[in-house]
Amino acid sequence: MRDELPGIPDHGWPADEVLDRIDARRAGDLDWRGGRAFSLVYNPGDEGLERLLHAVADRYLHENALNPFRYPSLLAMEQEVVAMGCRLLGTAPDAGALTSGGTESIFLAVQVARDAARTGRGIAEPQLLTASTAHPAFAKAAKYLDVEHVRVPVGPDGRADVDAMAAAIGDRTGLVVGSAPCYPFGVVDPIGDLAAAAAERGVLFHTDACLGGWLLPWLERLGEPVPAWDFRVPGVTSVSADVHKYGYGFKGASIVAYRDRTLLTRQHFWYDDWPGGLYASGTTAGTRPAAPIAGAWAAVTHLGVDGYLRMATAVRDTTRRFVHGIDAVAGLAVDPRPDAAAMQITATAPTLDGPQAGTGAVPARGSALDLGALGDAMDRRGWALDRQQGGLHLMVSPYHAQVVERFLVDLGAAAAEGGTSEGVGATYGGIA
Ligand SMILES: *Cc1c(COP(=O)(O)O)cnc(C)c1O
Repeated sequence: MRDELPGIPDHGWPADEVLDRIDARRAGDLDWRGGRAFSLVYNPGDEGLERLLHAVADRYLHENALNPFRYPSLLAMEQEVVAMGCRLLGTAPDAGALTSGGTESIFLAVQVARDAARTGRGIAEPQLLTASTAHPAFAKAAKYLDVEHVRVPVGPDGRADVDAMAAAIGDRTGLVVGSAPCYPFGVVDPIGDLAAAAAERGVLFHTDACLGGWLLPWLERLGEPVPAWDFRVPGVTSVSADVHKYGYGFKGASIVAYRDRTLLTRQHFWYDDWPGGLYASGTTAGTRPAAPIAGAWAAVTHLGVDGYLRMATAVRDTTRRFVHGIDAVAGLAVDPRPDAAAMQITATAPTLDGPQAGTGAVPARGSALDLGALGDAMDRRGWALDRQQGGLHLMVSPYHAQVVERFLVDLGAAAAEGGTSEGVGATYGGIA
């Protein structure tokens, strides 16, 4: 394999040939435009927005946001989109920063909490406390920033277990984390109780709203019973919210925001002892792509409140159709019940009107539908569902409104196909 990887071509390829080769390779990529993707791409199904984002990327492909004073346009757009995000989350308009994504937002929040614990509370080696459903970016931040990560299992409803989390807060805890919602199940942790438990011990609390930050506020305005999770909740000291997810900007944009601007300043870097001159930055990167900044600003201002409410309505209604439709397929259920957008498809034990009907037999544990095989059967039908520990994962974009019925027909057929074909085992062959 290694020997097959090429070196630089001796003679440069003509642009047409480069593009032909790229297009040939792209043929094997995930078809998100057709609504076949349930992670990775958040498709608003809005051609006007897509054209706008292409035009914006074209204008800012080569600019460098490392020195915003050379690009007043970028400085203004960044300050404005941060202010819009901060107001949405319920904090001061200058108490946040635009980062390259959720992972960077989380790294910075962990770094700020680590340093606040060290200098403010004299804890040499602060710990990070999360539920087991917290995004792997927290484990990654703990590794990179040399912080010990303490993980607590979630309850049967998929939410962080408040008592267990509170009991795990110790003298070295520097940051407690809750998700709104968590990626695997789409459930919102009990942020109010978790943040109160942290505040009681003088510990900072981060709400990871990478997924929900640009969705839950609109669902709340639509009258949905969204559990409290933002800066209105006492004790929440930082929040991450990805513009490149339900904010519908293109990749490379997230907001990290703080209750108090003095926390934000802990992530700032100044270096004035370099022959190259004063070097300062507000986030992790040096050279910074400009396009995601302009793209975030363009998406937020083009959609506006009415656009986001329209998108959130589509996500809400389509999520309901997925949940009800999946529950209606024999042998399948959405579990736990999601609060928003993301969900897990699980296998139920066969019921007595299923394959064991009339036999009086207690359904055997192993006779539930094989979800790995179901995922493969859906792959063959062109649907890309991610596999996770307890089932298949699905995340809803507005565009899925166009395909949900077709998806459900295929899911029913894939489930009914049983394990008789493609050698995936016959343990669930009778379930239809
Ligand atoms: C996507 C996500 C992240 C990480 O964000 P990236 O943009 O992929 O780095 C963190 N937390 C949650 C809940 C997410 O869904």
